[in-house]
Amino acid sequence: MMQDSVLTVADLRVRYPGSARDAVAGIGFTVRAGEVFGLLGPNGAGKSTTQRVLTGQHRDFTGSVSVLGRPVASWGRRLYERIGVGFELPAYFPKLTVRENLAAFAALYRTPSSPDQALDLVGLADAADRRAAALSKGMKMRLNLARAVLHRPDVLFLDEPTSGLDPANAAAVRAVIRAQADDGRTVFLTTHDMPAVEELCARVAFLRAGRIVAIDTPRNLRLAYGRPSVVAESLVDGVPQRREFPATDDPALLALLATGRVQTVHTREAALSDVFIAVTAAA
Ligand code: ATP
Repeated sequence: MMQDSVLTVADLRVRYPGSARDAVAGIGFTVRAGEVFGLLGPNGAGKSTTQRVLTGQHRDFTGSVSVLGRPVASWGRRLYERIGVGFELPAYFPKLTVRENLAAFAALYRTPSSPDQALDLVGLADAADRRAAALSKGMKMRLNLARAVLHRPDVLFLDEPTSGLDPANAAAVRAVIRAQADDGRTVFLTTHDMPAVEELCARVAFLRAGRIVAIDTPRNLRLAYGRPSVVAESLVDGVPQRREFPATDDPALLALLATGRVQTVHTREAALSDVFIAVTAAA
């Protein structure tokens, strides 16, 4: 079943009881079927709150939010048959084995699911008989991901799926997410991991203080806000120096090159981290 728009949010506002300001202050966006959509922004910008609304866990909001063509509030528990949710902190039964953990979660769904297939998908098949408590952080994050994909949901909501992982484990998790998207799933990702965003997201929205301050493809955002530069390393009186210049014809760079002391010159591409800093800095 495919709909053009899997998530539709219009004028979403959330204010927590006792708070003087909106945690989410009137945001709108749509996410299309099969799209990997990233929600980025500094700590406290409202990302998790938005995810909690979209996943039916926070019901006190105004505006309209629909998931898979229906208002989120009208789904009730059935929503969890259709979406998979992976939270930042892995949730599992520490004394059970990896396979037993997934079997316990599988029992919560009406849709039949295969723990072993999910373990294969995330590269944990070899650890199926290990107790969850004994897993490394990378493995726990994969178990968390296995839990989210177990019942083959239409939409995956992942909150910081690569947080704290070494580069190899982070790449493995990104590959799992890519494979899920290639399989036709829609993925809604909140993350601070810019390589993950570059590699996975078709579009991203940046939140600042509850508002969307930029929304586009990573490429267009880099072109609009990125800051390419040239980095030159030189040796001056035996002391290594590193200087950054805004352009290849910058007069100061040319002067430095003329000294004959420059050892390396690199161009630095505009990065999504530049975009992050440019659009989320306080106005
Ligand atoms: P992070 O990157 O740290 O996860 P975030 O972008 O997910 O941040 P939220 O957790 O959605 O941000 O928080 C948005 C705002 O709402 C913050 O000011 C936060 O302090 C506040 N907030 C979040 N949860 C609650 C709550 N349960 N009660 C009151 N205020 C909350």
